[in-house]
Amino acid sequence: MKIAKRISRLGTETAFDVLAQVNELRAKGRDIVALSIGEPACATADYIKEAAKKALDKNFTHYCPSAGIPEFRKVIAEYVASTRGIPVEPDEVVVVPGGKPTIFFSILACIEEGDEVIYPLPGYPIYESMVNFVGGTPVPIRLREEKRFSFDVQELRSKITKRTRMIIINSPHNPTGGIIPKQDLHEVAELALKHDLWVLSDEIYSRIVYEGKAESVSQFPGMKERTIILDGHSKTYAMTGWRVGYGVMPKQLATHVSRLMTNSNSCTATFTQHAAMEAMVGPQDYAEAMVREFKGNRELIVNGLNRIDGFFCHMPAGAFYAYPNVTRACRRIGFKNSKELQQFLLYKGGVAVLGQQCFGTRTPEDDQEYIRLSYVSSEKDIKEALRRIEAALTDSKLVEEFLDEQRVKEVVGA
Ligand code: PLP
Repeated sequence: MKIAKRISRLGTETAFDVLAQVNELRAKGRDIVALSIGEPACATADYIKEAAKKALDKNFTHYCPSAGIPEFRKVIAEYVASTRGIPVEPDEVVVVPGGKPTIFFSILACIEEGDEVIYPLPGYPIYESMVNFVGGTPVPIRLREEKRFSFDVQELRSKITKRTRMIIINSPHNPTGGIIPKQDLHEVAELALKHDLWVLSDEIYSRIVYEGKAESVSQFPGMKERTIILDGHSKTYAMTGWRVGYGVMPKQLATHVSRLMTNSNSCTATFTQHAAMEAMVGPQDYAEAMVREFKGNRELIVNGLNRIDGFFCHMPAGAFYAYPNVTRACRRIGFKNSKELQQFLLYKGGVAVLGQQCFGTRTPEDDQEYIRLSYVSSEKDIKEALRRIEAALTDSKLVEEFLDEQRVKEVVGA
């Protein structure tokens, strides 16, 4: 049967492929330390689970308005207003199942065929995927290691053409942990105003900050009218599987996105929304303790990575990922790229990480190699992962065996 052409333009999140490989290896009895996953390892807090149980008992199991339960939209509006320092009305909020749908819907609603969208590279792969899907042109802006993974403002300026319709930013950033300085956000705002652009500001890690403050581009005069703020409960409250998030956007766009919700999901699960509302109004100590734990893990992993020959890792300012430059290690050992290093560490070292190919299509300028490691696991797991990585990389027999297998695969085209 014929499949629509547009489907061939849809990308994916290859982190899920690595997850499948990890599960397959574990099913075969292999012991794998997974630092590949982008979600807090701890359970959702009890008070949130209790709220969900109560909501079920009260039979909040029916449809609700597509844009979300009115009380929940109000709580979100107040929260975003106080954290971003902007006025927000409940009808500027659309509750959706997770962080991703705000990317999906806002690109669907704002981008025409042939429009250009500037997005961070490396970056969350769904941006590029969705722009391609709707027939737009993804235009990467490189995040520079020497700028602690912020972009060069001049370069950003040079990427804007008559066809540019949107700039996507993500701060704190996946996969680098970088935070965009306020001055650079101001420049983004000026460019957006000057060229009449949308800004999709992915702030899903806004509460996971270790140094300084993650500011929102929406705070600058005139920006609220053109900014779509993406946030949600997955990372802040360890609620990835609950599927709840929200977009904050101008009222007119919110109406269109609500209609996309009506056409796709009808609404976000009603009892989930009740639990998510309680997550926000209830005690915040669990969420804060989680960030304190990540902070300790961050130092452990970065210091450990910097002890490995050929690795160099900046201390990330936010999110929960370390993104070491592993170019020297790859060149010294003979790995073609970070994807080969990823495969080696998984199949020979028993550690799952993600190579940079998981974070957007590489450009010819991309001559450095990086991997992403999540530090959401226990201290014990992180220590064990570091030990395994170092042991595997210094085991020349293991490396040789892997490289031989790779070259055989290349010859037979596997
Ligand atoms: N945006 C970024 C930058 C992310 O890293 C993620 C998840 O990893 C999302 C959005 C999507 O979040 P969710 O799992 O809530 O859909």
